[in-house]
Amino acid sequence: MSVPTSSAERERLLANPGFGRVFTEHMVRARWTKDGGWSELQLTGYAPLQMDPGTSVLHYAQAVFEGLKAFQQSDGGVAAFRPDAHARRFRRSAARLALPELPEQAFLDAIDMLLEVDREWVPTAPDHSLYLRPLMYASEVTLLVHPSEDVELLLIASPSGPYFPRGVKPVTVWLSEDFSRAAPGGTGSAKTGGNYAGGLLAQAQAAEKGCDQVVWLDSREHRWVEEMGGMNLCFVFGAERPARLMTPALTGTLLPGVTRDSLLVLGRDLGYATEEGQISVDEWRAGCAAGTLTEVFACGTAAVITPVGTVKSAHGSWTVGDGGAGPVSMRLRQALVDIQRGAAPDPHGWLRHVRVSSGR
Ligand SMILES: *Cc1c(COP(=O)(O)O)cnc(C)c1O
Repeated sequence: MSVPTSSAERERLLANPGFGRVFTEHMVRARWTKDGGWSELQLTGYAPLQMDPGTSVLHYAQAVFEGLKAFQQSDGGVAAFRPDAHARRFRRSAARLALPELPEQAFLDAIDMLLEVDREWVPTAPDHSLYLRPLMYASEVTLLVHPSEDVELLLIASPSGPYFPRGVKPVTVWLSEDFSRAAPGGTGSAKTGGNYAGGLLAQAQAAEKGCDQVVWLDSREHRWVEEMGGMNLCFVFGAERPARLMTPALTGTLLPGVTRDSLLVLGRDLGYATEEGQISVDEWRAGCAAGTLTEVFACGTAAVITPVGTVKSAHGSWTVGDGGAGPVSMRLRQALVDIQRGAAPDPHGWLRHVRVSSGR
């Protein structure tokens, strides 16, 4: 085990953690083999991995991951947000990548184990959280292309500050027609690093065009809107009351976001009509011009809700509403954040409270 971090050093790291660059002191591991199945979960110190250069994942990218958060609760406890939904998605992603499915209970146990020992690493500042990153990869040493017979599971955690340190700020997006994220029959609905690797060049092109993020369109016609970077998209029609929320349906090329699902539920709770449908680029533009499409936002675990202010493409650009953060987006964001922090009731049972042996 590594040397424990002093509380002064931990406080220093937690004061300004950024996103995904500070890690807690421990991690959880498990190993799967074709012959023996899953090992017990094992808690170890956070440490570098030693890897044979012939390890399969380095060559063929057979790997999946998850991303979820644990929050300091206003009553002093700690709770993870919808870990059961993330456990299910982790299984589905694994199945698509021909990796073994981790039983959902083991996923939850790993989180409990890590939160219990690294309890002091859950940030208490508002808008801060502990980002949990489960991952699984092909650890067999072979250049043979086949489903790995040896697989490593890891759970690491990273205290994180607000994704937008200067508050929620609308982004400008680039509609990508030169690149595609996912195609029918591909891996678009699995949370796998290859989807991200294939998107980096498109993201660089978006930046070159003066945009913050890339918007993915369907790969066949480059006409139907799918996602924004690593987040789902949601379209708001009409004024605040009564507004209608529409998010692109899960066609198999979109990632089924837990935030997307949560906001559809909260939207209904707040009295909005909600719908999974489809929207073309032309409809997006025309809706903004006519004033019927009033807000657009992206949603995901890391940033919760990110308003889309301006849209650019090879064929022109336009603004959504007045280009600022809309009232429906901000209301939904607040409703979700309040549940996550225990500041509002949790009617859907989304929080998993972690029993901790010692208080702060
Ligand atoms: C993770 C991810 C999302 C958002 O999912 P959440 O469960 O809401 O965090 C959306 N799109 C892609 C491509 C993703 O990888």
